[in-house]
Amino acid sequence: MAELPQSRHLATEIPGPKAQELAKRRASSVAAGVSSLMGTYAVRSQDGIVEDVDGNRLIDLGSGIAVTSVGASAPAVVDAVQTQVAELTHTCFMATPYEGYIAVAEKLAELAPIRGELRTALFNSGAEAVENAVKIARTHTGRQAVAALDHAYHGRTTLTMALTAKSMPYKHGFGPFAPEVYRIPGSYPYRDQLDGAAAAERSITTLEKSIGAGNLAALILEPIQGEGGFIVPAEGYIKRIADWCKENGVVFIADEIQTGFARTGAWFACEHEGVEPDIITTAKGIAGGMPLSGVTGRAEIMDSVHSGGLGGTYAGSPVSCAAALAAISTMESQDLSDRARQIEQQVVAQLKTAQEKNPRIGEIRGRGAMLAIELVDPATGAPDAQLTNTAAEAARSAGVITLTCGTYGNVIRFLPPLTISDELLSEGIGVVVDAIAEV
Ligand SMILES: *Cc1c(COP(=O)(O)O)cnc(C)c1O
Repeated sequence: MAELPQSRHLATEIPGPKAQELAKRRASSVAAGVSSLMGTYAVRSQDGIVEDVDGNRLIDLGSGIAVTSVGASAPAVVDAVQTQVAELTHTCFMATPYEGYIAVAEKLAELAPIRGELRTALFNSGAEAVENAVKIARTHTGRQAVAALDHAYHGRTTLTMALTAKSMPYKHGFGPFAPEVYRIPGSYPYRDQLDGAAAAERSITTLEKSIGAGNLAALILEPIQGEGGFIVPAEGYIKRIADWCKENGVVFIADEIQTGFARTGAWFACEHEGVEPDIITTAKGIAGGMPLSGVTGRAEIMDSVHSGGLGGTYAGSPVSCAAALAAISTMESQDLSDRARQIEQQVVAQLKTAQEKNPRIGEIRGRGAMLAIELVDPATGAPDAQLTNTAAEAARSAGVITLTCGTYGNVIRFLPPLTISDELLSEGIGVVVDAIAEV
């Protein structure tokens, strides 16, 4: 296939005529509850560019929500998938198993930030991994309660909706929610002004007083909160919580679904915290765009589930496993963790310059290529969701795929493919900061 030029190009307005045609077909066929940020439709993608149906070339600052870290259609992933799909699409690992699943489990054991004997079970989506991590923790402990943090996001299924904090759009009208899920305060330094020790004390008080350590099967947290606003907890917060879990026989689950696989400048974000979880959940960046998720944890916890208790028809599909092995080996050979750290340096410098001129950029935060700005009213610090949406919309119309997030809807997040060029990255961020300045 011809190379996709790595430059932004507006052939038409966005949405162009073909995108408008598709929007019409969509309105009468696709469920209204499924929404899209971009008004246009993709046809192909490579590294930092997504090309749409009208021949527009968009700068990708989203990676399909932290999925195509190795680039969409990365050559090694394409080769591996094409070979695998021609040999064997599916047998179901629970019926007739195959090597790829085992190879992914071995790779996860090697890379996960947990020492000792590890085991892995594979699934299709992030939510499914989280559900299964909770099932495993409950079997292992014989307890039922699960704690999750304020601003948490863990998925959209019944159990994971209960774990997710934000009502609109994720939970609104969808109750009742799974029982025995408890919400505790976390650490949001920009807004709560607490250091790690104080924030952890606050969390632990709620754990002990409202739930009771002896009832708690698991505590789940994202080492950097994703949908909740790219919130980096105060230093020492996660370590203290992990230690408390250990002291109380509570399974500590790090949800690395968004932070994992080189995204934050390490294989997993827990590594920055010097923390060893009992279980990690992975998905998103794991397989270069193919659907795959994993639960990886200490053997004694993972193996407490009875035979046949875990699985799924498509869980750990041979095609997704082949894609994962190729994506991971691309991350290794191109040292994409290092690339994520370079991206952080470049983007943070650019954003700091913008912040000096524009106090509505309240905070710049994140790690590696998982970066965000929180937009506020400079006088009061109040979240400014309207500015956020208007600026993001303007950047999208200018040909930059721009994602927002945050409990208060006032965060613009940057999740570029790790293979994006410096030039495209700087141009894309420039479009966003100009859009903010122009509102
Ligand atoms: C995206 C995400 C999930 C859910 O993954 P899906 O594949 O959408 O089900 C869970 N946890 C975190 C931290 C996520 O970012």
